Amino acid sequence: MTRRRRLDLSSALARGEFVPYFQPLVDLRTGQLRGCEVLARWVHPTKGLVLPDDFIPFSEETGLIGALCESVLSQAFKTCAELGAPFTLSVNISPIQFRDCSLPERISRLAEEHQFPLGQLKIEITESALLENLVDAQCIAAKLKLLGMKLSLDDFGTGYSSLAHLQALPFDELKIDKSFVSSMCCRRESMKIVAAVVGLGRSLGLTTVGEGVEEVAQADMLRHLGCEVGQGWLYGRPMPKEALTAMLGVERPALSGLVGTSSEPD
Ligand code: C2E
Ligand code: MG
Ligand code: MG
Ligand code: MG
Repeated sequence: MTRRRRLDLSSALARGEFVPYFQPLVDLRTGQLRGCEVLARWVHPTKGLVLPDDFIPFSEETGLIGALCESVLSQAFKTCAELGAPFTLSVNISPIQFRDCSLPERISRLAEEHQFPLGQLKIEITESALLENLVDAQCIAAKLKLLGMKLSLDDFGTGYSSLAHLQALPFDELKIDKSFVSSMCCRRESMKIVAAVVGLGRSLGLTTVGEGVEEVAQADMLRHLGCEVGQGWLYGRPMPKEALTAMLGVERPALSGLVGTSSEPD
């Protein structure tokens, strides 16, 4: 079964069935586009659109994650080049990849191929990337930063949240997990946690991003608490290249009208 699934995944990879979707990150104050997060999708010939939770863990187990990520990233760079105005791209890097000391060079070579400026690339990792071998992780992070890339701590507040992680790596950004954002308007505790995390991020000089913003009230509260950037269905769902192109064509330069952009079903 495992061999069969591995074969399925590697042949899907060879056929180019893994593609990048793009989700906007928006300045909570001005409504302007700050960049996009690249989220992998499997365009399956019979199952339709398959979400990462159904293929990332398996591709990590089978060692295909590196190739998958590079294929998706390379397509994302290509799209940016085609659009002519490269904006900041945030890309998720698995803890497995974050053990490989050649990662920074591999990413930088890929970006060079597509003339994508590394200063506009943000690497998102979760805290689990720091648990196994902190020394390697620190070395990789230092190389990424030296090459000009930014570093973001994803899903903050879940899992192994430890304040020590915030000082172990030179992060530029803190993403507050959507579980807090989605409950912050109805649970006082969640709101207080978000307020504390935003305060912590700001005092450390990090950009704070609220993930999973679905309602105007959540965006208003995040803004009120001093959070700078929002990401969520309110501003736009993850969308394929064609929808991104259309959105940029219509909405440039102010993307405050992104509200309601819908390209992925519930
Ligand atoms: P993530 O990096 O935390 O990405 C945010 C997830 O929240 C995405 O799920 C996105 O579609 C979803 N989301 C965004 N806004 C909203 C909202 O307003 N409401 C709700 N309910 N959800 C929202 P997705 O695309 O299913 O990705 C899940 C996870 O898979 C990602 O979490 C990331 O950890 C991982 N992933 C995705 N693409 C890649 C990739 O290329 N490489 C690696 N290693 N991991 C990836
Ligand atoms: Mg992410
Ligand atoms: Mg996240
Ligand atoms: Mg996540």
